[in-house]
Amino acid sequence: MSTDPAGELPFYYGSISRTDAEQQLKLAGMVDGLFLLRQCLRSLGGYVLSIVWNLEFHHYSVEKQLNGTYCIAGGKPHCGPAELCEFYSKDPDGLVCTLRKPCLRSPDMLVKPGVFDSLRENMLREYVKQTWNLEGDAMEQAIISQAPQLEKLIATTAHEKMPWYHGKISRQEGERRLYSGVQPDGKFLVRDRDESGTFALSMMYGKTVYHYQILQDKSGKFSMPEGTKFDTIWQLVEYLKMKNDGLVVVLGEACVNSKAAGKTPNLPSARRHGTNGYTPPPKAAASALSPAAMASLPPDRDLLPMDCDGFNPYHNPNDVKRFNIKRNLLLIDELELGSGNFGCVRKGVLKTDSGQIDVAIKVLKSDNEKLVKEEMMREAEIMHQLDNPFIVRMLGLCNAENLMLVMEMASAGPLNKFLSSNKDSVTMENIVGLMHQVSMGMKYLEDKNFVHRDLAARNVLLVNKQFAKISDFGLSKALGADDNYYKARTAGKWPLKWYAPECIKFHKFSSKSDVWSFGVTMWEAFSYGGKPYKKMKGTEVMNFLMDGHRMDSPAGCPERMYSVMNECWIYSHEERPDFMKVEESMRSYHYSISKKAKPEATAGAAEPIK
Ligand code: AMP
Repeated sequence: MSTDPAGELPFYYGSISRTDAEQQLKLAGMVDGLFLLRQCLRSLGGYVLSIVWNLEFHHYSVEKQLNGTYCIAGGKPHCGPAELCEFYSKDPDGLVCTLRKPCLRSPDMLVKPGVFDSLRENMLREYVKQTWNLEGDAMEQAIISQAPQLEKLIATTAHEKMPWYHGKISRQEGERRLYSGVQPDGKFLVRDRDESGTFALSMMYGKTVYHYQILQDKSGKFSMPEGTKFDTIWQLVEYLKMKNDGLVVVLGEACVNSKAAGKTPNLPSARRHGTNGYTPPPKAAASALSPAAMASLPPDRDLLPMDCDGFNPYHNPNDVKRFNIKRNLLLIDELELGSGNFGCVRKGVLKTDSGQIDVAIKVLKSDNEKLVKEEMMREAEIMHQLDNPFIVRMLGLCNAENLMLVMEMASAGPLNKFLSSNKDSVTMENIVGLMHQVSMGMKYLEDKNFVHRDLAARNVLLVNKQFAKISDFGLSKALGADDNYYKARTAGKWPLKWYAPECIKFHKFSSKSDVWSFGVTMWEAFSYGGKPYKKMKGTEVMNFLMDGHRMDSPAGCPERMYSVMNECWIYSHEERPDFMKVEESMRSYHYSISKKAKPEATAGAAEPIK
């Protein structure tokens, strides 16, 4: 899982040193304009562009700005490292020459991970496993959907893995360790200060050891006094390697703590936390927090999908995955969650060996004709084959006074209604996260060769503000192993405004036509539950599309999200991206906005502590 925006560039080497970069350029022939990109070892999220000119090496640092753009000092900002390199391949704009020839990584050479990159994967897995008791696919889905949030959670302990972190040692012991061996300026270590729970930085300069207290503000950010603030200790240290921020000198080599290697970090302390500032509707009162989650919520953090039982209800497969549910295990509430031509959906409770779970029960009207019953059985058949956190799971069928389809409960209801009635409390970032989850669910369906055929915001149900599930498989089809589309014999009551041109013209349905519907669903979501193609009739929409028109961007919708919509609405299904690609785009945008650091840059001199 690469979250590095340069990760895919063939001339990107990752975290290699300047010497290694020069070695690569030498091997590639030292022609003028030969270049490569590497991770900057000092500036967070930054890069270095190494170029050959006149048989000499030139290294330019590319800094990541607070607004997420990248630029070489004094140069123009660019939205990503790829765009920046493309620009300098046409215009030197102050560099020794244009970028003429990429120095390509050999096929067997992997991008070298940076300091935190190599720790991140293991830490994420360990954290998810310990906190939510997840493994396998469920763990992967949790990580992909929540990586930025998880990283923020674990980053607070990442320093414990760093060679410069010495744990709880006294000032004197810190000094003893720094004085032992060579004593270059900038040699440093970080230690826990005695009782206070805060950290101190001890460093060497002119053969003398200086000690600085690392401050932590009310929001938990770390800094040198009046210096730039960071979410984590390790980020602060990386920054101080580049800028002294009031220290006598920038940090140099680490005073290595030989005991640190291979140590498992402590997880943030476990504590129950209420809600995330969002008050669920009363019907969501028992909002299905799993016992593991109850015990492990650290303070002051948003609810994550994994905190809910519905993320992975199959810890004990015998418990809930029963196809035929006995009537006496089912309590049916009077409360109607919704209705359709088949009957209605009621709230209920399913008794299991390990307690009760909230369920939604699709109840078939007893006077319903055979055809509708068959339709419901087909829906059950499809749902039974699916198991993904971002798809409403069927828990079973109960054939009693009525035929009933028992499903996981998504108590915050359909996405379009939720968004239109919670406009003020739902941010764009929140919507991006939810739509990323929908793209993950759809990618799962695509992988399993199922077409949904009715993807729309009304059919995306929310468990809570942070957790979406795709529902309503009434029109869905499983494709044969060799088929990549389903051909409907006759047109039915179709949601035309969500359908791709090939569905309407040729009755052909595929994952690519679901991609089109995903674009419309995105439009609904980013317009907070707006109605697509407002006043147009379904049949008029086709002419509008054939004339090359597409819906305008919803107000305030991020540009990159509108461009994903437009890709979903590429007329020819062959050129339209698949869900693998769409999920990738959603993921990279989701990560990029969730990761933005918000340090408050203020300069000032740090006073050594006594
Ligand atoms: P459907 O016919 O599947 O679209 O269901 C009709 C309505 O019932 C939906 O729009 C929801 O409001 C509600 N509903 C259906 N399934 C669920 C569920 N699993 N959890 C909560 N509400 C549901």
